[in-house]
Amino acid sequence: MSRAPMELELPSPPKVGMVSLGCPKALVDSERILTKLRSDGYQLSPDYDQADVVLVNTCGFLDSAKEESLAAIGEAIAENGRVIVTGCMGKEADVIREKFPDVLAVTGPHQYEEVVGAVHVAAPMPPSAYLNLVPEAGLKLTPRHYSYLKISEGCNHRCSFCIIPSLRGDLVSRRPDAILREAEKLVAAGTKELLVISQDTSAYGVDLRHGAWPWKGGEVRAHMTDLAGELGKLGAWVRLHYVYPYPHVDRVIPLMAEGLVLPYLDIPFQHAAPSVLRAMKRPANEAKVLERIRAWREICPDIAIRSSFVVGFPGETEADFDYLMQWLAEARLDRVGAFRFEPVKGAAANSLPGAVPEEVKEERYARLMDLTARISAEKLRATIGRTIDVIVDLVDEEGGATGRSKADAPEIDGEVHLRDAPHVAQGDIVRVLIEDADEHDLYGLPAAL
Ligand code: SF4
Repeated sequence: MSRAPMELELPSPPKVGMVSLGCPKALVDSERILTKLRSDGYQLSPDYDQADVVLVNTCGFLDSAKEESLAAIGEAIAENGRVIVTGCMGKEADVIREKFPDVLAVTGPHQYEEVVGAVHVAAPMPPSAYLNLVPEAGLKLTPRHYSYLKISEGCNHRCSFCIIPSLRGDLVSRRPDAILREAEKLVAAGTKELLVISQDTSAYGVDLRHGAWPWKGGEVRAHMTDLAGELGKLGAWVRLHYVYPYPHVDRVIPLMAEGLVLPYLDIPFQHAAPSVLRAMKRPANEAKVLERIRAWREICPDIAIRSSFVVGFPGETEADFDYLMQWLAEARLDRVGAFRFEPVKGAAANSLPGAVPEEVKEERYARLMDLTARISAEKLRATIGRTIDVIVDLVDEEGGATGRSKADAPEIDGEVHLRDAPHVAQGDIVRVLIEDADEHDLYGLPAAL
């Protein structure tokens, strides 16, 4: 991730630089903070030199992310000197202040008012002459053609390897009508793809008791299936992330088959062996997931299932790992990410017995990646000769372009590389004839209109 503050060419000091680290949820937080600051009349600075104050939105999930956050704070202090820290690592204000006593303020995740207040103190607010300079859809750090849509904060689960509930608290869902209004504005402003994010999308609305709110002359319930259905009517691609396989997820699959929601499910399974899942305290940890995947594929044959897995979790035996490998061989997931277990400060899993030696973790990781890459390559090869929809992310000067199929989320999945595409533009959704494939990416040619 680039650590250069992002550019927005609008006049009027004071100027704020922003360095945004971490996951899409943190990116949405950064966008909200910037939208508020912009509406208060601040300008964004393209570089450290011109910024009156620099905001660093940190990630504190893994030790490696914390190190990256501390490095980013150090860089901002060295380059500018007037730094406000926010985000997940803000929970560890002591660590930050000890290392960087000069930081102006440290606030935690979702403390929008506190962080904006700290900016007001560090660089006093200008007169309110610029309120109308904020675009209707707010300020975005992603390209105009796709947007993350955060539907809830926090999580009611207590997975033993995760500290997100202690960082972000229990589940708090946004009202469905507010989400839909935001989505409408985004689509009106040019968004072609809405990426629904949360910590646990399938739990959306539990805290609101799945109540209903007026929407377009009818009602919409605070429930994942209702929300997905309404989002699907807005005319943009709708991609669901962080879905746990609760029974009601089955009801979203027909929406995918109908084309209302992208045939894509991001389900972080993390493991398959029952004893490891129990030790992880994973939600919706039930048997028969393989059967359900089979049933989903019958209803929606094109569904792409993405997941992530942890290898070397404490207590994972060779038999547990073999179970996972067999499960993966049967499940034939479309996109797989894997992590070697890494203790996270404050996580319950750290005190579990049966630590797996690093070299065993490495070996299991390599075996898992090898298997899943082979499955991915086979599946992508089967796409050769088909014509599919591709959303264009980037065009190059040689007449080529890079985009994604419905099976690819930005940043985490594969890409589709287009040749002979001088007429396509960023954000276009084009039909592409697939000519070639490798382990992760597809290669093709825009189909004749
Ligand atoms: S479901 Fe588990 S891993 Fe995901 S945020 Fe909640 S506690 Fe963490």
